[in-house]
Amino acid sequence: MSAPVRVRMAPSPTGSPHVGLVRTALFNWAFARHHGGQFVFRIEDTDKERSTDESLASIIDLMRWLGLDWDEGPEVGGPHAPYFQSQRGDIYADALARLQSSGRVYRCYCTTEETEGRALAKKEEYAAAKAAFAAAGGQGTKPEAPVMGYDGFCRDLTDEQIAAFEAEGRASVPRLRMPDGSITWNDLVRGEVTFETKHVPDFALARANGDPLYTLVNPVDDALMEITHVLRGEDLLSSTPRQIALYEALKEVGIAKATPEFGHLPYVMGEGNKKLSKRDPEAHALAYRDQGFVPEGLLNYLALLGWSIAADRDIFSLEEMVEAFDIKDVNANPAKFDLKKCEAINATHVHQLSVEEITDRALPYLKRDGVISDPVSDADAQLLELAMPFVAERVSKLTEVGDLLHFLFVPEADFVLDEADKAKMVDSDEGQAVLQAAYDALRSLEVWSAAQISDALTQALVEEMGLKPRVAFGAVRVAATGRRVSPPLFESLELLGRERSLGRLQGALS
Ligand code: GLU
Repeated sequence: MSAPVRVRMAPSPTGSPHVGLVRTALFNWAFARHHGGQFVFRIEDTDKERSTDESLASIIDLMRWLGLDWDEGPEVGGPHAPYFQSQRGDIYADALARLQSSGRVYRCYCTTEETEGRALAKKEEYAAAKAAFAAAGGQGTKPEAPVMGYDGFCRDLTDEQIAAFEAEGRASVPRLRMPDGSITWNDLVRGEVTFETKHVPDFALARANGDPLYTLVNPVDDALMEITHVLRGEDLLSSTPRQIALYEALKEVGIAKATPEFGHLPYVMGEGNKKLSKRDPEAHALAYRDQGFVPEGLLNYLALLGWSIAADRDIFSLEEMVEAFDIKDVNANPAKFDLKKCEAINATHVHQLSVEEITDRALPYLKRDGVISDPVSDADAQLLELAMPFVAERVSKLTEVGDLLHFLFVPEADFVLDEADKAKMVDSDEGQAVLQAAYDALRSLEVWSAAQISDALTQALVEEMGLKPRVAFGAVRVAATGRRVSPPLFESLELLGRERSLGRLQGALS
């Protein structure tokens, strides 16, 4: 590749960030890192009504959490600052003035009503021609459907016509004159893509009051920031022929050095093969952090939405992705979002972490969920360290640490048994008999250790009462931990301590 690679992600800060945005960010980031290039982060906040500070903050927060670092952009600055479109008004005004001096942009004086009126008339004319064609039994030339959208009415106004419109005090917008023929580019994901320009109407670059539109600012920024590759979602494919045409004008007026290459990443589909939308709960990227996913897991899964490292391999690290990432390997077909697979991949990444690492990462969740008080007392920190080896392998999300360890930290006054588990395992005659026997066996234990507890309970419940271990230990487990799912029972009782364990067994006896 000739020029050093410069890619960007350019989110509009509206609403809560979508997993599609993360996928786009990840592919751009991996592409930049693979080629030793630069990853630019630009905020497309031209839509003042819809852009919010809250959305911006959550996008930045998300990128930081994921570890997708940017070389230029908010918080880090860079040679092309500012990186917020809302702060680049002068740049766009200058670009517009230069473009207007080229022959490729003309002023359009049509009102919306006039444009729509003409479009309607064309539609009606077509309907009539079609009917006549059918009535003639298909004889003659088949009428062609009219091209919708702006019809180029003001393309070739004479100086007198312009003067007359100006004298009327009409407002006008600048429009780019689309070239005749077709526009073709070699899409990095989809291969050759061609649009006939007769289907791409001349488009406005700014509002009548001079406010620049997205159609102008996005390519102007890409040009000035010297973006070499535009990798973005397929939803933007139809804007690409317009942008390529605008690039020709930008090059002519010395704003762009070159037209970037484009690659359109496949759609992400949700349930029922519909595009994953903001209404789908699994679309919200930060919800994964809230639910205790680890960034390695989420990124690994999102990488699979269009890319794979090898035929039979789903699990990889970010470093491995960077090493192997080639945009040409991205599949153009829509990718299906599969939450179960995302969870499974996340679980694998959690299990690759050390116990200490899981503990550190779980701690904020334990505090957030009120499992452990904040600041953490020495006693709680010690208990947590002792308990973590028994839960690390059992959790697939960080929030599950709290689910499994809640029983250890909860004050006795607040300790309650899960209703359903209690009804099933504790309240029956058999459950009560088990708990009484367990209580009696444990009360006289000399050393309160998992091994001693195991021996005593096995002897009393399995050998003497002849119970199946599942039944015997299940009742004890529910009584002591509150649930049928817990860390290993004997270790749990050891950690809980003699007093609390016996107290809970007694409390479960009616
Ligand atoms: N701001 C645009 C969006 O959020 C991105 C446009 C682009 O990547 O070119 O959809």
